[in-house]
Formats: sequence, C-alpha cells, structure tokens
Amino acid sequence: MKPEDFPEDLRDLLIPEPGGQLVYRCIGCGAQHSIENLLYTCPDCRQVLLIEDLAFGRLAAVPGHRWRRLFDHRKMLTLPALKGIYRFHEFIGPVLPLEAVVYLGEGGTPMVEANARLQEMAGMRFFFKNDGQNPSASFKDRGMASALSYIHYLLRSGRLENVLAVCASTGDTSAAAALYAAYLQPAIRSAVLLPRGKVTPQQLAQPLGSGARVFEIPGVFDDCMKVVEALSERYPVALLNSKNAWRILGQESYSYEIAQDFEYDLSDKVVVVPIGNAGNITAVMSGFMKFLRAGVTDTLPHILGVQSEHADPVYRYYAQPPGDGRRFTPVTVRPSVAQAAMIGNPVSMPRVIRLAQDYDRLAGRQAVSFVRVSEQQIMDWQLTANRNGHIACTHGGECLAGLVAALEQGLVDASHTAVLDSTAHALKFAGFQQMYFDNRFPPEFEVVPRAELANAPLAVHPAEGVPVPRPGKPLSDRDLACFASEVAEHIAGVLGLSVGDAADDRRD
Ligand SMILES: *Cc1c(COP(=O)(O)O)cnc(C)c1O
Ligand SMILES: [Zn+2]
Repeated sequence: MKPEDFPEDLRDLLIPEPGGQLVYRCIGCGAQHSIENLLYTCPDCRQVLLIEDLAFGRLAAVPGHRWRRLFDHRKMLTLPALKGIYRFHEFIGPVLPLEAVVYLGEGGTPMVEANARLQEMAGMRFFFKNDGQNPSASFKDRGMASALSYIHYLLRSGRLENVLAVCASTGDTSAAAALYAAYLQPAIRSAVLLPRGKVTPQQLAQPLGSGARVFEIPGVFDDCMKVVEALSERYPVALLNSKNAWRILGQESYSYEIAQDFEYDLSDKVVVVPIGNAGNITAVMSGFMKFLRAGVTDTLPHILGVQSEHADPVYRYYAQPPGDGRRFTPVTVRPSVAQAAMIGNPVSMPRVIRLAQDYDRLAGRQAVSFVRVSEQQIMDWQLTANRNGHIACTHGGECLAGLVAALEQGLVDASHTAVLDSTAHALKFAGFQQMYFDNRFPPEFEVVPRAELANAPLAVHPAEGVPVPRPGKPLSDRDLACFASEVAEHIAGVLGLSVGDAADDRRD
C-alpha cells in the first residue's frame, strides 16, 4: 500500500524519522556510555551492557491503541527498511535513519498452530514460531540485522571505516554474521571462529558460502569465545556475539511479533525459549517489558526457559532457593543435540538475572521459570513434532520437551496457550535426526531411538531382467513402460495396495 493511501491520522508516524536517545547502560555498575563507539563491556567494571532509550517517555506518551494501529498498518507497507524487524523501529533502533537499515528478509516469521493430535500429546494448546524461516535459517538474523544496520550507520556517517567483524559461534551466529557482512562488503569483512567438529556441516557451509574467513578452534564454544574476547580487547574489531547489545535489541522483535500475532492480548500466554548464551531469553524478556511499559500491551506472558541436562548452568542457578544466596557456577558442557545451546558459561547470565527480577516485579507474580530436559526427550519431541507437520530444529524439540516437563511440574497452566521458539530450521540439524534413525548416537548423548519414530528410505530393486534406466541412457518406450509397471507393482506390494481398492479403503 502506498503511504498516501493510509489513514490520515497515521501518516505522520508511518515512516519513522530518527529519534530517541540511546545509550549503553552497564548491568553491573549502572554507568552510562555513549553509543558513538562500539562498546561491548563497561570500561569501568567490565560487565555486559544493554541499550537504553533515555527518551523512552516519548513512546509511552503515545496511546497504546495508536501504536497497535500503526504496527498493524505498517504490515501493509512495501518499504524494505520497514518490512523486517524495523516495523518496530521506535523500539528497536530509533536512532537509525531508514537508509542505514539492512533488510535481508528477516523477521515476520510464521506462528504455526500444532494440530489437535500434537496438542493432545503435549497437553495444551501451542504454536511453533518458526524462526528457522529467517534468511540464514535461525533467529540470529534478527540480532544481526540490528547489529549490522548500526555498523552500516556508523560507516555511512564516517565514524567507522574498514570494519572487521568477528564472532565465536555454535554455528548459527557465524552463518548470520557472515551473511549480513557479505551484503555490506567491501566496507565490512568477517571472520568467524567455530569449535572444530561442534557445528553441523550445514552450519559450516553457510559462512564459507558467504565468503567469511572461517577458523576452526579446538575446544567448545566457551573456548572460542575467550579467543574472540582476546582479539576484541587487543585489536579494533567489531564483535558480533550477543555480548554486543545491538544484537539483543534486534532480537526483541521476536516478542513484538508475538504480541502483534495475538492482537496484543498476551494474557494466558506462555513463551518458551531454549537457552544457550542467554542472549535470546534476555531479548525476549526485554521486548515484552518495553511493550508493556509503553502501553502497547497490558500484560506480560509467562516466560519458560529450557536447557538440556548436558548444558544447564542457568537452570542450576534458578534451582537454588530464591534470594541473594544464589551463586552462578559455569558448567562443563557435554555433547548435546541442542548443539547451538551447548554453552556452559553464558555471556548474558548477568542480564538474565537482572531482567528476570524486573520481569517478575513488573508482572506482579513469578512470571519467569526454567526447566531442564534430557537429550532423549529433546529428540523424541522434535521428531514427534515434525511428524505432525512442523519443521522444528532440535532446539524447537527442546522447547516442546520443556513445555511438557513444565506442565508435569505445574509451572504452566494447561488452559493457557504457548508459543515455542523453533530457533533454527530442522535441516541445519538433520545429522542428529539421521543418528536417531540409524541408532548411531555416540553413548555420551544418551539417546536411544524409539522404533516408531525411525524412518529410512527403501531401495527398490527391479527383478532380474527388467530394464533399468541409467544416467545418459534413456530406455525405449516399451522398456520404460515395463520398468514403470514392475516398480509400481513393487511399491504397491510394500504399501499393501490392491487393484480396485478405493482410496479410503486402506489395509494394514
Ligand atoms: C543461538 C541459538 C540458541 C541459543 O540462543 P542464546 O541466545 O545463545 O541463548 C538456540 N537455538 C539456536 C538454533 C541458536 O542458533
Ligand atoms: Zn560498569
């Protein structure tokens, strides 16, 4: 729809002008730092930062119904800069002029309701939000669109030149970083550090295809992260891990979209997220709180964070009795099918501790909880979901396993509606599905396939003497008819079809 065709009362807000007053706010000492420089930790106390809008009051001054109408109308705009996460520009990056926005198709991912059968199995109504349908096939694109749009803005305004963007990754961060950096080259080059053998072949292919320099490092993600930190302390590089507060800002769009998809009614909703480095759960909590504070919504959904038994430091922290006695202890991770969340010392833990406290206070109830699930449950639920029409990755399976566990423990109400984050596309983690089907999981995963979930292709071998097509050697019409008939008979036999069967008259 053309801007001039929108209702008159919305036209002045439709295309946002740069505004707001963003600063970095230290989670530790509360100090405020200018966003004119790329900053990842507080120069005073080394703690992580979040971005705060000192002029947030101007957003709260706009009536909620006006925001809701605006965001709903913006969906009809064809302007690329406002088609992705910047539909919520005022909340995500108000200082950015639209010319700086990098849009590669991120955001606006579908919420797909589970069928009746799967809801029955899980025990409540739920949706998957398919963040695997982002351009690099994970939610990381939301944060990367924000971080790279900001760097693009600094480049355009001459405050930065020749950027080398680096990140450590469990796979998806590097795929997203390399993709967005490739779009902005040659002004930006990218280098990614991956734990050798701990990312899937698909995830390795992504940054290679985008032209990033890829370094394989011995160890696990936490070790890669240390190397990246050493690099960023000594050299002028742009760090693209979720330590970068711009990443968090972009990932808040996930919450805004959920709000919008429920017509801004978040009562009786549960939002389920897997936790790795804890950037995503930080962003999800922050996003819902901002919408509430601005009056866009009038309630906070319940947040359920899920971790695997093989990488569970956040769960362990919250399993301690509430109060100041809680101590955070990093864990040594074990192999996990939720590989992108296989992190023992999450960078965003201080953010989670702060925001979960704020969230509960704002909600006036305990509104953030945490569960832990086994590798077996993750795989079983992922495959079960996908056999019911979903494209959930292992982390999506982890969310579903977590929801079921939370129901059993009475942490969520079965009459509510849940939204599960399928954080990546199933295809990125197809290797784990294959291990399950082949019963080839190394023992440390502790996964034993359930026979009813296994599947394998069946090779069809026509009988001796039946002509078979070969590459570059097509069959004659007669031989092809013979081949087709033979193979069709074989398949009909396997499927138990008989001549004259009506379509609905299936046999076992
Ligand atoms: C990064 C990632 C996670 C974990 O998110 P955090 O922000 O690190 O907690 C989960 N699933 C997938 C697919 C990811 O790429
Ligand atoms: Zn500080």
